[in-house]
Amino acid sequence: EDTERDKLIEAHELTAKLYHYLLMNTTHGQQALSYLRGRGVTDKQIEQFNIGYAPPEWDTLTRFLEKREFDLSKMEKGGLLTARNEGNGYYDKFRDRIMFPIWNRDGKVIAFAGRLLGEGVPKYLNTPETKLFTKGRVLYNFHGARVAMRKSRNVVLFEGYMDVIKSWSAGVHNGIASMGTALTDEQIALLQRNADDAIICYDGDNAGMAAAMKTIPLLEKAGMRVQVAMLPQGMDPDEYIEKFGAQSFMREIIEHPASATKFRLIYAKKNHILLEEEGRKNYLLEAAGIIAALDSPIEREIYLKDLSREFDISLDVLKQDVFAHREKSY
Ligand code: ATP
Ligand code: MN
Ligand code: MN
Ligand code: MN
Repeated sequence: EDTERDKLIEAHELTAKLYHYLLMNTTHGQQALSYLRGRGVTDKQIEQFNIGYAPPEWDTLTRFLEKREFDLSKMEKGGLLTARNEGNGYYDKFRDRIMFPIWNRDGKVIAFAGRLLGEGVPKYLNTPETKLFTKGRVLYNFHGARVAMRKSRNVVLFEGYMDVIKSWSAGVHNGIASMGTALTDEQIALLQRNADDAIICYDGDNAGMAAAMKTIPLLEKAGMRVQVAMLPQGMDPDEYIEKFGAQSFMREIIEHPASATKFRLIYAKKNHILLEEEGRKNYLLEAAGIIAALDSPIEREIYLKDLSREFDISLDVLKQDVFAHREKSY
C-alpha cells in the first residue's frame, strides 16, 4: 500500500522533471517558454516553481513511464494518463499545456495544473482526486511559503497559480492559493497553525470579492486576524504586477490592506445606489449591522465616526442604531 503511494510520487516527480526539460529544451517548448516570458514569468521563477510543458503528442509521457516500467493502469488512476476508449492502452492526460506541479507539505509533487497557452476551455486542467491528491487538503505553494509564513506569522491568500508565482518575484514569499475552490476547514486549520494574520488578495472582480466575503469569517472563526488587499476593478494580482510593476504592487496593494470590517463596508456599499436617498438609508442600516458585530467599542467608534462624516449623520444616532443591533443579538 505504502509502496504504491511512493511509486506514484516517484512518477510525479519524474514527470515534473520531464515536463520542465521539455519546456526548456525543445522546439515545442519554445512556444510555451515565450508565452510564459510574455506574461512576465522570469526564468528564476520557472526554475523555482519547476514549471514545465506537456507537448501536444498523445504518448510522450505514456512512453516515458512505460520505459521506466511503471504500471500504466496505476498511472491512469493516479491522474497522469487517460485510458483509451476502445481496446486497451493509455494516452497522456495533459497535452499542449503549461504545467504547474503541485506539491504536498513535504515538497513532493502529487498533482499538476495544466494551462492552455491561449484562450479556450478548460483554461486549467487539474489532476482529478487521486490516492495522492485531494484538492481540499492541498494549498498551492504551501511548502514554498512555509518558512516566510512561519517567520512573519502572516500568510497571503491568492486565487491563482500565476498570482502566487508573479507575486513571489514581487517579494511576497508567504503567498499560497487554493485549487480554484473555497477554502476547506482542513486548509484553514493548516494556515492557522502557521500564521496569525492573513491577507486576502483575490481578483478584483465580483467573484473575487464574493469569495473574500466567504473566506473572511472562516479565518476569523479560526482566530486569525484578517485583512483584504484590494485590487483595481477587473484586475488580478498577476495583471496588476504586469501593468504597474512589483514595487507598486508591494507598496500600494500588499502593504495597504483594508481591515475585514472596512472590506465588508465596501462590499455592502456596492449593492446600494448612494445617489438615491433610499440607497443611502439602506446602506447605513447595513453598515450599522456590520459595525455592531464588532466587539471592541473603540473599533466601533472609529468606523461610526467615518460613517458619520461621510453621510453627515450624527454619531449619536448611529450609535443608537448599533446599540439596537447589539441588543437584538443577545
Ligand atoms: P491566468 O492568469 O493564467 O489566466 P488565473 O489564475 O487568473 O489564470 P482565474 O480565472 O482568475 O485564472 O482563476 C483563478 C484560479 O481558479 C486558477 O488559478 C485555477 O486555480 C482555478 N481555475 C480557473 N479556471 C479553472 C478551470 N477551468 N478548471 C479548474 N480550475 C480553474
Ligand atoms: Mn478570477
Ligand atoms: Mn485571476
Ligand atoms: Mn491571472
